[in-house]
Amino acid sequence: MTPISKKVGVLGAGQLGRMLALAGYPLGQKFGFYGMSDDEPSALLGQMHLHNDDADTLQELVKFADVMTYESENTDLELIEEISRTTPVYPSARSLKVCQHRGLEKETFKRLGIPCAPFEIVTSLEELQAAVDILGVPSVLKTTTEGYDGKGQFILKDEDDIEEAWKTLGDRELILERFVDFHRELSIIAVRNANNEHVFYPLVQNVHHKGILRYTIAPAQEIPEMVQKAAETFMQVLLDELDHVGVLTLELFETDSGLMANEMAPRVHNSGHWTIEGAQTSQFENHVRAICGLPLGSTEPRQPIAAMVNIIGETGPVEKVLKKSNAFLHLYDKSQRAGRKLGHFTLLSDSQDALFKDIKDLNDFLPI
Ligand code: AMP
Repeated sequence: MTPISKKVGVLGAGQLGRMLALAGYPLGQKFGFYGMSDDEPSALLGQMHLHNDDADTLQELVKFADVMTYESENTDLELIEEISRTTPVYPSARSLKVCQHRGLEKETFKRLGIPCAPFEIVTSLEELQAAVDILGVPSVLKTTTEGYDGKGQFILKDEDDIEEAWKTLGDRELILERFVDFHRELSIIAVRNANNEHVFYPLVQNVHHKGILRYTIAPAQEIPEMVQKAAETFMQVLLDELDHVGVLTLELFETDSGLMANEMAPRVHNSGHWTIEGAQTSQFENHVRAICGLPLGSTEPRQPIAAMVNIIGETGPVEKVLKKSNAFLHLYDKSQRAGRKLGHFTLLSDSQDALFKDIKDLNDFLPI
């Protein structure tokens, strides 16, 4: 039997790297991280290679690794292209390039027949004015790169907002999108390995507050089979187009006229944390399996319904979570700071009513 054990190098050392390692060790994989400081969440879970302007610590990690992956779509594309010359990097530079630019991403959706909001790329106040003439208001202005958790965005409610929007975000490339009148925000996670095996998790519902994901309901309730199938078809087309290996997440709006794609991420995703206890195989284990060339695991939920609640800003009364037999706590070993994701917990339940009762008992962790 060929050994399946591989050394995985992760660019980044945050909670995603930490949960990848926690999922990969039972399979015999080893981990190394490239981080900024040795108190990051992944630090004690593998070899830590600290960024250092005077030493090639990244090269040491690449030498250690059989395969490389990354935690963020904001990872330097040129760096990924360079590493790929000597060591496989998954997802590949092709996936990363599309996922890190909202314009390229939306053009890809459009070309592949995946519905998304009409959009215009703008690089000046005049172009923004022209784009508003085409798309109308309300519309959402976003930076084409580096936006996350709702940062780098401005909602234009009427035409008087144009100058302020440009002043707030402008002097760089921006994308204006027509405002989507949605019922719910959903996401779907797909995984593909290099043998073109692919699996899909069920659609989940995501609830945000001030641009940050607060909780996820998994699976999203009252999703007709056809809608799940439509989301899987979008993912299949994207996986094929990008020749994607690893986890790919697509955020979607549920609207009167069906699903509309918002954005995608070439990585394990906060809306997939419920899979650690809630699915037969977690998104983290499936990412490790995919990038290490292993067969993928079942994505079936283990129970009728689950919720994943983020712990944000302050740790809060986690004893309450620990006392519940159907709750599973994950703390990322990060210091408290407003808006910072410090951990999450997952609740497993038999019914929506029971789940919402549990969420209510633990509402100290929610903003409202
Ligand atoms: P994003 O960074 O693109 O995920 O956007 C952050 C949040 O802004 C989303 O989760 C939505 O709640 C909202 N949003 C983004 N784009 C649009 C849009 N075109 N129409 C309506 N809401 C949007």
